[in-house]
Amino acid sequence: MKRQLRRQCPHCDREVTWPETTTYPFCSERCRLIDLGVWASGDYRLPGEPASENDLRSVAPGDDEVEE
Ligand SMILES: [Zn+2]
Repeated sequence: MKRQLRRQCPHCDREVTWPETTTYPFCSERCRLIDLGVWASGDYRLPGEPASENDLRSVAPGDDEVEE
């Protein structure tokens, strides 16, 4: 009997099997990083680096409200 683990990805609920999926229990490296909080607003960030207020806002290019 082949040993296999099966569960849903904590982030996107896609079915994930082990050992086929090396990032188990996540379906992918991306979901694993997202769940760990490494990803913020779609931008890759180093672990532990806080996101600034400007990064959290969606500011259009040329927006007068942009401040450094
Ligand atoms: Zn996933």
